[in-house]
Amino acid sequence: MNQGILIIDDDLNYTQIVKQFLEARGFRVSIGMDGASALQKLKAEIPELILLDLNLPDISGKELLAKIRENHPECAVIVITGYGGEQIAIEMMKAGAIDFLSKPIELKILLEAIHNTLKLRKSRLEERGDESLPTLENFFPFLAHEIRNPLHAIGGALAVIQRRSDLKDEPLAQSIRIIKEEVHHLSEFVQECLDFVRPPNKKYYTEIDINEVLSLVLNIVRHIYEEYSSKIKIRRTAASQVPKIPANYEEIKQALLNIVKNNYEAMLENGGELEVHTCFHPADGGWIEILFSDQGQGIKKENLKHLFTPFFTTKLKGTGLGLPICHRIIVDRHQGQIAVESQEGQGTRVTVRLPIRQQ
Ligand code: ADP
Ligand code: MG
Repeated sequence: MNQGILIIDDDLNYTQIVKQFLEARGFRVSIGMDGASALQKLKAEIPELILLDLNLPDISGKELLAKIRENHPECAVIVITGYGGEQIAIEMMKAGAIDFLSKPIELKILLEAIHNTLKLRKSRLEERGDESLPTLENFFPFLAHEIRNPLHAIGGALAVIQRRSDLKDEPLAQSIRIIKEEVHHLSEFVQECLDFVRPPNKKYYTEIDINEVLSLVLNIVRHIYEEYSSKIKIRRTAASQVPKIPANYEEIKQALLNIVKNNYEAMLENGGELEVHTCFHPADGGWIEILFSDQGQGIKKENLKHLFTPFFTTKLKGTGLGLPICHRIIVDRHQGQIAVESQEGQGTRVTVRLPIRQQ
């Protein structure tokens, strides 16, 4: 039987065009012009896929998505946002949408997204039975792959353009810089999302020297923020030797890097000093403590409780995944602790504790 698609959108022109286009390709298409009529349609027939416009006259897209997910978890949902709606789209993905597209949408791209989503839906249903459509966790690696390949291609093509262009032409040089920065930002974002959803890998636990990892991490950030080297100083202090700990080297490096990047980012504007202190406490089976104290702008009191919530960020280009990744690595995967204290306008102190033995 033909697969069914429900378009929920109040834009009459657009829905008619899409309906015709999809029917010509063998889909059964119905339309709901608002939330109420869409829910009515869903009572009569449950489609395989829903194209949900978030901008509806009678109900918020978020609310409607929640209702659909609750009552019809077997429907795959592609969220359609207005231009620049990526942030909302991420929220929607967290709430169970499989993909998102921003208007204006090319029909070819829409069709591709529909095919991919239906494919994914099918394999999920076969794998696990009806109740578990993809969550952000298991869908993201797939999405990341789809984003990374074109990004690499854009980066490569841009390098060619850059080599062959007249860089004295300032607007052109600036445009190239912007594309480069945005490609870089997007790559980092995808990487952080991947780090966030990556499953733990106990196999790679080795005995690691935390001071060694710290030296490496501090060198990396010094390098990233080279142009701020006169404004931001690092002071390392350590209470003699610390024992090695069993840990996943790459993960611990990642977690400490996320913390130090935040310290730096907080001081970019006014400069300051970052103190990094390590010490060993023999009590309670023995654990290592690492303190990161910066003199940056600090954190508003009301934000402190959100720091470990995925996607919480106060930065223009933040991902809000740095600290949630730290928490996952340090607390969930290494039975350690992480705490953040801060005085707005004065600075922030992050304390990490790691046990010297894993249970
Ligand atoms: P991101 O850095 O992408 O915003 P994080 O999870 O790393 O995401 O941090 C979340 C938020 O916590 C930041 O946006 C910032 O508001 C706050 N934060 C974390 N570390 C610091 C710090 N050292 N100084 C000031 N604010 C911080
Ligand atoms: Mg961060």
